[in-house]
Parts: sequence; structure tokens; C-alpha cells
Amino acid sequence: MNSKNTVKPCPFCGGNATVVSKLMKGQVYMWVSCTNCGAGSAMVSYPEMAVPKRLTDSQKEMFEKPLLDMWNRRIVE
Ligand SMILES: [Zn+2]
Repeated sequence: MNSKNTVKPCPFCGGNATVVSKLMKGQVYMWVSCTNCGAGSAMVSYPEMAVPKRLTDSQKEMFEKPLLDMWNRRIVE
């Protein structure tokens, strides 16, 4: 079984999309962004203390899953 989360291509241009995370004011924001046209999904945020500095693959999957669900269902602003 492939345990890696799958990010579908961008719904707008078909480009590669990737999960981006950024720490701002004690919150870790994560969203999916297209590397080609810059289209982005809705963001999710977690308190900094809830997100380990070094994520294991399974933790990464857990944090990214809601994002990928949104992106992959094409619920994109
Ligand atoms: Zn795109």
C-alpha cells in the first residue's frame, strides 16, 4: 500500500501542486499551492505547539489529509 498522500494536479492549469506550510504568529498554516499558476486551496492552521518540528511521514499525512481532501475534491477558491 502506498502511504504517501496524493496531491492531484491543479484544477485550473493542470500543473503540479504541492503542500506549503508556513509558521506565522504561533500558528502553522498549511495549504496546497500550484507550482505553475500559483492557485491555492483553502488554508488550515494548527497551533505551533501541536505540530512537531520534525514530522514523521505518518504525522505529515495526518496534518495534510484535510487539505488534500479539499484540494482533491476541487473545493478550491
Ligand atoms: Zn495551476
